Amino acid sequence: MRFDVIIVGAGPGGIFAAYELMQKAPDLKVAVFEAGHALSERRCPIDGDKVKSCIGCKSCSIMSGFGGAGAFSDGKYNITNDFGGTLYEYIGKKRALDLMHYVDEINLRYGGEGTKLYSTAGSRFKTLCIQNDLHLLDASVRHLGTDINYVVLENLYTYLKDKVQFYFDTPVQSITALDNGYEIVCADGAYTCKDCVISVGRSGSKWMETVCRDLKIPTKSNRVDIGVRVELPAAVFAHLTDELYESKIVYRTEKYGDKVRTFCMNPKGAVVTENTNGIITVNGHSYEDPAKQTDNTNFALLVAKHFSEPFKDSNGYGESIARLSNMLGGGVMVQRFGDLIRGRRSTPSRIEEAFITPTLNATPGDLSLVLPKRILDGIIEMIYALDEIAPGTANDDTLLYGVEVKFYNMEVEVNERLESNYKGLYIIGDGSGITHSLSHASASGVYVARNITEK
Ligand SMILES: Cc1cc2nc3c(=O)[nH]c(=O)nc-3n(C[C@H](O)[C@H](O)[C@H](O)COP(=O)(O)OP(=O)(O)OC[C@H]3O[C@@H](n4cnc5c(N)ncnc54)[C@H](O)[C@@H]3O)c2cc1C
Repeated sequence: MRFDVIIVGAGPGGIFAAYELMQKAPDLKVAVFEAGHALSERRCPIDGDKVKSCIGCKSCSIMSGFGGAGAFSDGKYNITNDFGGTLYEYIGKKRALDLMHYVDEINLRYGGEGTKLYSTAGSRFKTLCIQNDLHLLDASVRHLGTDINYVVLENLYTYLKDKVQFYFDTPVQSITALDNGYEIVCADGAYTCKDCVISVGRSGSKWMETVCRDLKIPTKSNRVDIGVRVELPAAVFAHLTDELYESKIVYRTEKYGDKVRTFCMNPKGAVVTENTNGIITVNGHSYEDPAKQTDNTNFALLVAKHFSEPFKDSNGYGESIARLSNMLGGGVMVQRFGDLIRGRRSTPSRIEEAFITPTLNATPGDLSLVLPKRILDGIIEMIYALDEIAPGTANDDTLLYGVEVKFYNMEVEVNERLESNYKGLYIIGDGSGITHSLSHASASGVYVARNITEK
């Protein structure tokens, strides 16, 4: 079957590419191939009762399906060039911001109206952070929340489903360049198109590597972020989260000069597990609906590891550390901060006696047996630094879940149109290594759709 445009992956990048194609050129014949399920079929079997931990489904409903990795996320759309990707390096800072605002408008139109836009502009916390050797990054953040984010996705699907041909549970196996376009091969057959947009996100990273190898598309890879998810009583961070919702704070360690940063803050949220290619790591989310909120706030503390030649497999390094924690903890491990600094493992009774109730059922253990010393020292230093602006952070009962790994897809070589060395083959979103967030991935989708229709 022949299409004008085939999009591989129905995460935010793919969805916004399809949306914009239909806005600008509704007559185009567009297909979206998605390895995971339709949105209504996406269900993680972990219910905390019968199924307590990841059972390794063939298609992980948290990472795959309509909505991509972001479907059950907290739906925090950060409108900024300061983090979330380097899209601006390809298309310019103003255009990148304009596209993120455009995505925000669509989200509001499709169900997000009434949600709050937080901003660091003029915040007194900037000064407080600087006074304590911490650096608050600039951003506006639209917090949809897991519930509203889902509604927006439902509405976008309703808009698209009669205009675009969706193929769910259909992973694309290979892509071949033809004289006048591309051939996409799936288990049930082959499809051709003139332009192809690849937006396979983090879960498609291994597949993306094979595509780049087969088509000889140059790539580079040198970064992975490793750390823990911190969980503490919501009151400790309430003064920050009430005003900013999410604060991205960066700290440079005294000992090694490494950068440690807060990431993905979830006020009154829950800690969750994440399965990336069979490796269980930790993440977090929160709900806009007060009935679903918890008494805890969680956020990640991550240390960026950049490698230089000859080592190339930064994700492999992160995976090995995550595997070690899976080996010792049978999944995610949890430790009280007090136990960590006293050099002893947390036990079920020490966790039970703590003045905080964990929101994830993780195995009590010892993170110092998992995390490299340099990374652990950085995290401990930052916890004490955060304690200066949010007293209570360095409390003995603060929970640290490990490990949290932020894998970066290898960066694929594309030009300023996000087009690879093959004409009409675009690589966008987190799968390109250029974006690492909902807003940047979505913006990259809108951008390539406009490039295709203008062409
Ligand atoms: C639990 C969680 C919470 C998060 N919270 C936030 C947040 O609050 N804010 C934020 O900015 N970011 C958040 N993120 C990150 C965010 O979800 C991603 O940056 C974003 O989804 C990237 O969009 P994407 O379209 O590039 O890729 P993805 O969303 O990963 O979508 C890619 C899609 O491609 C499909 N695919 C892969 N390989 C193939 C193939 N071979 N054939 C067909 N389909 C394929 C996958 O199944 C997937 O559905 C979170 C991520 C997780 C996991």
